[in-house]
Amino acid sequence: PETISIQELANRMSERAVDVIRMLMKQGQMVKITDVIDADTAQLIAEELGHSVRRVAESDVEEGLFDTTDTEEHLESRPPVVTIMGHVDHGKTSLLDAIRKANVVSGEAGGITQHIGAYQVTSPLGGKVTFIDTPGHAAFTAMRARGAKVTDIVVLVVAADDGVMPQTIEAINHARAAKVPLIVAINKIDKPDAKPERVRSELLQYEVQVESLGGDTLEVEVSAKAQTNLDKLLELITLQSEVLDLKANPNRDAEGTVIEAKLDRGRGPVATVLVQRGTLRVGDIVVAGAEMGRVRALIDDKGANVASAGPSFPVEVLGFSGTPEAGDRLAVVENEARAREITDYRQRQKREKAAARSATVRGSLEQMMS
Ligand code: GDP
Ligand code: MG
Repeated sequence: PETISIQELANRMSERAVDVIRMLMKQGQMVKITDVIDADTAQLIAEELGHSVRRVAESDVEEGLFDTTDTEEHLESRPPVVTIMGHVDHGKTSLLDAIRKANVVSGEAGGITQHIGAYQVTSPLGGKVTFIDTPGHAAFTAMRARGAKVTDIVVLVVAADDGVMPQTIEAINHARAAKVPLIVAINKIDKPDAKPERVRSELLQYEVQVESLGGDTLEVEVSAKAQTNLDKLLELITLQSEVLDLKANPNRDAEGTVIEAKLDRGRGPVATVLVQRGTLRVGDIVVAGAEMGRVRALIDDKGANVASAGPSFPVEVLGFSGTPEAGDRLAVVENEARAREITDYRQRQKREKAAARSATVRGSLEQMMS
């Protein structure tokens, strides 16, 4: 059932909370400012205080957002979105950097200096591959909890001189839970103490069986340091994505996920967004989590301004009025009034959740003190 706290009800009517409490007392209800009451009672009180009430359900506000019913005829192939996971120090960052460097065409605007948390490269087999640089498994799990599926393929990096370690196992479990295929990249094969065979057999214990041991998990031996077999890894990613037959409709309003977001001194709120379907354009009105904005500029991973971004493209989005959170889903809406309705509603919900949390804390403190 829908509920509202006394404080929030008072806020929305611009009345004092004590007047709301007094009104409820008259009706025989003893409440504190942090208590919640049901929507029917709240409506009664509001009307008693001379306000007109319009009840908005979540289903009304969120209606039509994230409409995933694109028909087959509108779908077009899109690049795979890849995340590199593995144990700390096994070479995730080195591998991401090496792939990126190897792919930079000299003289490209911005070169490799731009960091937006995601980038695209061209596969030797043709087509693009999008890599996202998630800050860790925790962020990833948080995104998944919000219903954001951002990765198509996980590259599992295992250092050949160290073998399977706790975060290797975590990554395997994560990929399995998210139903995302793994590609095993055995890294640091340039090292004299590298034992790639040992890695393969250790992985068997976690039911990851690579091709050379008769399984169906793609694998490659790489060295981020010596730039060995990076092309091979990209080829495997393209092959895997062909099996997955990844598609999206580029000709519709954009939807995507915020990969990271920050407040920039000069540019205001900046969100790196992975577009997942549709095409995002400068001038679009967007909502992401409890924030809205009109897209003022889109900047790609090379630092270049672009007019639009289609499925699987990562872009920095400028023009938000507040800073959204990593994992927030982005949607384009028809106008500012609609955006405001959605974000007002979500901000209220956020406030109410925060209030409920602090009320619980206060309640248990009071219990402890009495
Ligand atoms: P991450 O924690 O998984 O992101 O690992 P990093 O990319 O930070 O790498 C950890 C350390 O391993 C760094 O000192 C790297 O220079 C080193 N390293 C990464 N890849 C290789 C490699 O292919 N060969 C060698 N010899 N060292 C590597
Ligand atoms: Mg790292």
